[in-house]
Amino acid sequence: MQSFNPPVRTLMGPGPSDVHPRVLQAMARPTIGHLDPAFIGMMEETKEALKYAFKTENELTMPVSAPGSAGMETCFANLVEPGDKVIVCINGVFGNRMKENITRFGGEAVVVEDKWGEAVSVDKVEQALKDNPDAKIVAFVHAETSTGAMSDAKAICALAAQHDCLNIVDTVTSLAGSELRVDEWGIDAIYSGTQKCLSAPPGISPISFSERAIQKLSNRNTPVTSWFLDLNLVMGYWGKGAKRAYHHTAPVNTLYGLHESLVMLTEEGLENAWARHSANHEDLKHNLEAMGMSFVVNEGDRLPQLNTVWIPEGIDDAAVRSRLLNEYNLEIGAGLGDLAGKVWRIGLMGYSARKENVVLATAALKEVLASQ
Ligand SMILES: *Cc1c(COP(=O)(O)O)cnc(C)c1O
Repeated sequence: MQSFNPPVRTLMGPGPSDVHPRVLQAMARPTIGHLDPAFIGMMEETKEALKYAFKTENELTMPVSAPGSAGMETCFANLVEPGDKVIVCINGVFGNRMKENITRFGGEAVVVEDKWGEAVSVDKVEQALKDNPDAKIVAFVHAETSTGAMSDAKAICALAAQHDCLNIVDTVTSLAGSELRVDEWGIDAIYSGTQKCLSAPPGISPISFSERAIQKLSNRNTPVTSWFLDLNLVMGYWGKGAKRAYHHTAPVNTLYGLHESLVMLTEEGLENAWARHSANHEDLKHNLEAMGMSFVVNEGDRLPQLNTVWIPEGIDDAAVRSRLLNEYNLEIGAGLGDLAGKVWRIGLMGYSARKENVVLATAALKEVLASQ
């Protein structure tokens, strides 16, 4: 057996994205105890910086010690009680997973379905709320990474509030990549990931809960069925002020990485990070369209950080992606579900959202396509 030395790639798929060298260096620093006062100081800074990234004052804002999917499960495990009716919007892979969470925690899912590649229809959500006055929660994906479509989180959250529903919002791909305002938009429970637009490695899921969400959690009739994700217990470790108690061993070095990525986000400025993703998207879009490719998602609903384009007629999807990987060390994403074999998903997330990546992806695709 030998040490594992991964090839150096440029990651322009749906995640993970390129991790900034500063983040990798931070992760190589000495491991200390997860109850060490120095570590606790770093945890407090991390929580404050996450509030900045989410644009929230929510006290319960913290990183879950597991990937984005665990952040998703944290929201549903804590907020859905057996028998709760939950309106869930499905316009891609991740909406489907939300539905799976609802039913596994004993909830009743009312599905609002939209075509893959389209944004969630706000009108359909309104109709579902009218048809289901007993619904308790509306759940949807802000940035659907399986298709590249962005939904109107502000409008959907406002509708949910009008009908006395809480909302659960997936922002794994939107956090730090496009406009997101937790308090202003009235988001109640939100989860994200570190490996998309935060330039950090996978394995951590930032979450935030509003006062209303905490109230629902406090008024539960039944205990949260997941021990690890029960926020009542997790907050004994991550909560502010309270004497910290052992819950689980935090992933110390990965959290150094998240902390460093948040230092970098505050240096750049959140709005500047959103603008950088947009600017690079505009450049890439211009180049791809000049090569004759067209986008799957309508212009107004596109995610700048995930560009989904139709694969040109007669082109071998797998052969192109494998040549990009082997000859250019460039990873782009394949299509999922119904879009498998039909689209490419080209990510511009976090540290990957850079001019040199746009140039590399354009040039590499041009050469490989020309040879086909
Ligand atoms: C990537 C992603 C997830 C899952 O995150 P993991 O870190 O892979 O568990 C959930 N939702 C969306 C929209 C994502 O893009």
